[in-house]
Amino acid sequence: MDLSYSEQDQAFRVEIRTWLEHNLTGEWAALRGVGGPGRDHEMFEERLAWNRHLAVHGWTCVGWPVEHGGRGLSLWQQVIFHEEYASAQAPARVNHLGEELMGPTLIAFGTPEQQQRFLPRIVAVEELWAQGYSEPGAGSDLANVQTKARLDGEEWVIDGQKVWTSNAHLSQWVFVIVRTEPGSQRHHGLSFLLVPLDQDGVEVRPIEQLTGGSEFNEVFFTGARTDADLVVGEPGKGWPVAMGLLGFERGVSTLAQTVDYAREFAGVVDLAKQTGAIDDPVLRDRLAALSAELEVTRAFALRGLSSVEGGSDSAAGGGAGSIFKLVWANWHQRLGEVAMQVAGPASLLALASGTAYDLDEWQRLFLFSRADTIYGGSDEVQKNILAERVLGLPKEARG
Ligand SMILES: Cc1cc2nc3c(=O)[nH]c(=O)nc-3n(C[C@H](O)[C@H](O)[C@H](O)COP(=O)(O)OP(=O)(O)OC[C@H]3O[C@@H](n4cnc5c(N)ncnc54)[C@H](O)[C@@H]3O)c2cc1C
Repeated sequence: MDLSYSEQDQAFRVEIRTWLEHNLTGEWAALRGVGGPGRDHEMFEERLAWNRHLAVHGWTCVGWPVEHGGRGLSLWQQVIFHEEYASAQAPARVNHLGEELMGPTLIAFGTPEQQQRFLPRIVAVEELWAQGYSEPGAGSDLANVQTKARLDGEEWVIDGQKVWTSNAHLSQWVFVIVRTEPGSQRHHGLSFLLVPLDQDGVEVRPIEQLTGGSEFNEVFFTGARTDADLVVGEPGKGWPVAMGLLGFERGVSTLAQTVDYAREFAGVVDLAKQTGAIDDPVLRDRLAALSAELEVTRAFALRGLSSVEGGSDSAAGGGAGSIFKLVWANWHQRLGEVAMQVAGPASLLALASGTAYDLDEWQRLFLFSRADTIYGGSDEVQKNILAERVLGLPKEARG
């Protein structure tokens, strides 16, 4: 496998690096390092403005085909874009779900009208999207969705509840999986609808998190409405669309996570030098292990991408996505634990103001990374996939 970049790719790296250097200055300079998991509330309006600045210069939806408003970058150039973006500490983007999930799904499954209606506004960062899959009784077991929709003339009418809906309080639209065939079971009779959030029938209730912020929400639909033609795929056949969208979740941008992780790791090493923890042989050992494991994680991600680029998903017998998820999520959790050990007893204290409390970077990393092994498919679910689909072990009993 050749993991070196071509001359053209190297020139592209210089182009995006130079652009970021010239643009993350002046009023934008304050946005360096702002936002990200557990910190999505930080300078949201400013980050939205920055995202629109990226859009004006053609730096949104870089992997989408040119005919849909993207930049048509090759897979490796997308990797370079995300690596350089992370290395420059450019602020976390606010339209991840639109760019990485909704857009590619509409390109693959949407009607020309739906594409014309929504794609330009995702590219321009005019409309933000939330993902309405999970429900109180349907998380890992997504096919148990109970939220319902029925056609009433020219509109769908939706009733039910979604939960853990990230950024619904900041978004204009949500894509939902709903049951449109009464009495249907499991993945039959589900439809994939696009629903405007700003309407009387939708109530968004933020959920307070361990980290103090409220990045996700409960979303209640009580007679909520959306146009009849805003169903992606055929009514009652939304499951393949919903699964197709999850396939895009394992996008190129996940590779750039390892750049962010490398920076976090360097921060923990610096902290260890400051606190003297670096002299503790057990902690040194753990830091060295984390360093080696991060390199392995990055190499594994590159291998997975190169096999996708080669037209197959054959890396690790088709289980590359599940293995990558397991590896990075557990690595990141261990980093959070080691950061707390390095910080020592002080890591147990937080500055309280009223009922709120301020966390430092390492406390937030430790607490937020507990979620890493849950979202995007929990550890247990990934292990089931590997056991049953890759290793061919007997299927677990299902109720
Ligand atoms: C930070 C964060 C952001 C999220 N954002 C969104 C979002 O924007 N939109 C959205 O729709 N959802 C979102 N989710 C929800 C996420 O997809 C679900 O939390 C996840 O699918 C797990 O579902 P659950 O919480 O219902 O847990 P459950 O499915 O009830 O699982 C509970 C526990 O049982 C285990 N388990 C479940 N089934 C099995 C099995 N068959 N075998 C072995 N163990 C099993 C799980 O691994 C877990 O440990 C988010 C979650 C988090 C943490």
